[in-house]
Amino acid sequence: MIQLYIPLNFLGVIYREIKQSLTDLDKMFVLLAREREVADAPGALPLRVTGAAVRFEDVHFAYEPQRPILKGVSLEIPAGRKVAVVGPSGSGKSTLARLLYRFYDVGTGRVTVDGQALSDVTQHSLRRAIGIVPQDTVLFNDTIAYNIGYGRAEASTEEIEAAARAAHIHDFIVALPQGYQTMVGERGLKLSGGEKQRVAIARTLLKNPPILIFDEATSALDSRNERAIQAELEAAAQDKTVLVIAHRLSTVVDAHEILVMEQGRIVERGRHAELLALRGRYAQMWALQQDGQEHAVSSPG
Ligand code: ADP
Ligand code: MG
Repeated sequence: MIQLYIPLNFLGVIYREIKQSLTDLDKMFVLLAREREVADAPGALPLRVTGAAVRFEDVHFAYEPQRPILKGVSLEIPAGRKVAVVGPSGSGKSTLARLLYRFYDVGTGRVTVDGQALSDVTQHSLRRAIGIVPQDTVLFNDTIAYNIGYGRAEASTEEIEAAARAAHIHDFIVALPQGYQTMVGERGLKLSGGEKQRVAIARTLLKNPPILIFDEATSALDSRNERAIQAELEAAAQDKTVLVIAHRLSTVVDAHEILVMEQGRIVERGRHAELLALRGRYAQMWALQQDGQEHAVSSPG
C-alpha cells in the first residue's frame, strides 16, 4: 500500500503539470499552427519602421504545391495610404493579408516593409508593427481582458476599456457576471462571430500599430454596429498604412488605390472614379451593390 501511495501521489503531480501544459499549449495552439510555417532567418534583424510603406513584388504563392493561389501580384501601399482589395470569394484577398502578416512565406517574389523583405526581419518585430483584424478571429482561451490587451502587454485597465468602448463591445462585457475577467475561447464563453470580431477590433485599436490590415473586418456585424465601428476604424486608420479587404464598396471609395482580384491576379487597379470609367469588373460590382443597396460584394470565405 505504501509503495502504491507514493507513485500515485507522484502521478498527481505529473497530472497537474500536464494539465497546466495543456492549458498553455491550448493558448499557443493558434499561433503555433501558423508559426510552424515560417521561421526567423539566421541573423534576422528587427524591422526598422520609417514610414511603413508596403510592397508586394511579383508575388507567387501556393498553400499546396500543385495549386497556385497568387499568380504574380505586385502592389504598393505608400506610407500612410490606404489600398483596398475587392473581388470574388476565393480570389486570394485574405491570402494577401496572411502574407503581409507573414503567417506564410511567399513562394517567389517578395514582400517588403520600408524596403526590408519580411523574410529578413524577425517575426516579433514585424508583428509588433502590424495590426490585423482577420476574417475569422480565433480567441485565446483566456479572459476577455487578456484577449483585448494581447499585443500591448503594458496596457492599463482604462486603456483596455476605452478600446472596448470604441469597438462597441464594452457594454456587452460589463453585463457578463465576470465582466472583463470572463474566460472565453474553446473552454470558456463562446462568443458569436460579431462579438469575436469586435474583440479583434478592440485589440487592434489598442495596439495602434503603424500598419493595419482589415480583412472584411466588420462583415459579421449588423449594419448599425457596422456603421458605428466603421467610423472608429477610419479614425484609427488616419495616417496609417492600411490594407483593407472590403466586402462593401462604400468603404473603399476614398482609397488611394483599389485592386480588383480575380483568381490570384489583379485584373483592374485604380481610383474609384477611374475604375467606374473603365466600365469593367469594378463598375459591375458597384452597379450590383447600388441595386442591392446594402448587399456585400463578397461573402465571407
Ligand atoms: P478570398 O479571401 O479572396 O476569399 P483566400 O485568399 O481566402 O480568398 O483563398 C484563396 C484560395 O486559397 C481559395 O481557393 C482557398 O480555398 C485557398 N485556401 C485558403 N486558405 C487555404 C489553406 N490554408 N490551405 C489550402 N488552401 C487554402
Ligand atoms: Mg477572404
